[in-house]
Amino acid sequence: MAVGLDKIEPGKITEKEHLVVEGMDISGHWNRMFEPRVLTEYTVDNLEKVAALPGGESLMWCYGCAKCTAVCPVDIVGDYSPRKIHRRTQTGIDLFSSPDLWLCTTCMNCLRVCPKEVNMIQIMPAVREQAVLEGNVPPELQKAFEDTAKHGNPLGQPQRKRADWIKKAGVAVPIIKDLKREVDILWYVGSYPSYHPRGIDAASAAARIFNALGVDFGILGIEEKDDGDSQRLAGEKGLFEMLAEENIATFGKYEFNRMVVTGPHEFNAFKNEYPKLGADFNVLHYTRFLVEHLDKLKPLLKKPINLKVTFHDPCYLGRHNGEYEAPRELLRAIPGIELVEMGRCRENGYCCGGGGGGMWLDSHTKDHTTMRLSERRVREAAEYGADVLAVCCPFEVSRFEDAAKSTGNDKLMVRDILELLDESMKE
Ligand code: SF4
Ligand code: SF4
Repeated sequence: MAVGLDKIEPGKITEKEHLVVEGMDISGHWNRMFEPRVLTEYTVDNLEKVAALPGGESLMWCYGCAKCTAVCPVDIVGDYSPRKIHRRTQTGIDLFSSPDLWLCTTCMNCLRVCPKEVNMIQIMPAVREQAVLEGNVPPELQKAFEDTAKHGNPLGQPQRKRADWIKKAGVAVPIIKDLKREVDILWYVGSYPSYHPRGIDAASAAARIFNALGVDFGILGIEEKDDGDSQRLAGEKGLFEMLAEENIATFGKYEFNRMVVTGPHEFNAFKNEYPKLGADFNVLHYTRFLVEHLDKLKPLLKKPINLKVTFHDPCYLGRHNGEYEAPRELLRAIPGIELVEMGRCRENGYCCGGGGGGMWLDSHTKDHTTMRLSERRVREAAEYGADVLAVCCPFEVSRFEDAAKSTGNDKLMVRDILELLDESMKE
């Protein structure tokens, strides 16, 4: 209520005279508020509950401009964005138990455009952490948490089999423990490249490329565990800290100059999150590492690949870490490839749906959207006439291959850039 308005007795206020200008009554008597206006019919308790969490504060800062709604990949297949989350929470929805809690992939496209810096990459993990503590987690995600805790990887595969893939690589893949010496490159392979059949294809291709370039490298083999960053973003902070502690101790046992990682999520973890826990090493995503070796790599790329290729920017390589060029430089180096860009690329790249725990929430997402984000993305690639959807994140190959099938775009091939390079190296 306006200051002093409560002291005015409504019955005593009358309109004295009207001011009429050129036939129009502009005295505004119709707009005088003699009664206090009811502005709210709800409590903001739920919004305040989110804002009270460390990391949740910025949800309060939203002023409803809706810039985020225009770019949120989930809104394109559903009804979602920070603005909508803010409004729903403000009008009483409990985000802690709402299905909305699990739809954000932490892709960061909203933060890129938000004038108020409403930060879903901090808000969502903070609220999810509470939901996890209360046991309110979708079952498929809970399983991924449990598999990671028990086996060191979210696929639920035995730890002792983590290096079995090297038997299929066709070249030497040294285990750093056996080398008993310093190496130039510690290659952190990652969970999906170690266990998933299509991830193994990319890992084997990387091994062949590293060998052909004469890279002095070693892998951790059965000592390697999942980086845990996606589990952290999905709300399992404790699990992340446990894995980080174990991985950092393992890294500390060996001498290496730099680390190369296969996946953008691991890259993000080791570059931005592990240093907060005391780890200090130089890490590169494989695309940047191979670009450094382009002079040596180019002469090896002899076989033309005469296909139209489009590239999907991984959120955690592009928006989160600013790397847009290295993957494209590698693709341009392959003879025969015609590189076409999709409308949603680079800074505005569409999300595959796998980030922030989305990798293990496909059924939940499908139940609350019109289609999976991966399905929307393969349709876009097909609309641009691509023969190949090129990726450089181990989450994406299987996601997009499944989506190509489920949307009837079977002709669209999904290939890791490593596979395309390896193919071009074949005589
Ligand atoms: S862009 Fe930011 S301020 Fe604007 S509606 Fe979205 S969250 Fe709110
Ligand atoms: S981080 Fe991505 S998915 Fe989450 S709300 Fe923002 S734009 Fe949408």
